[in-house]
Amino acid sequence: MEMKKFICSNCQKTIEIPYGVPKPETCPHCGAPAHYIHRVDRGGRRCGCRFMGRE
Ligand SMILES: [Zn+2]
Repeated sequence: MEMKKFICSNCQKTIEIPYGVPKPETCPHCGAPAHYIHRVDRGGRRCGCRFMGRE
């Protein structure tokens, strides 16, 4: 299954979540609130053309 990646700007750790699962409300590593958690798209083809990026 493909994973989407987020990074916590508080603890700098990566959070991997399967597609279809909503973004966590808090960082699972440090408990920072969601506004510290940012989507990263890395380690793959950089074509987001098929996705509308709705979350
Ligand atoms: Zn964190």
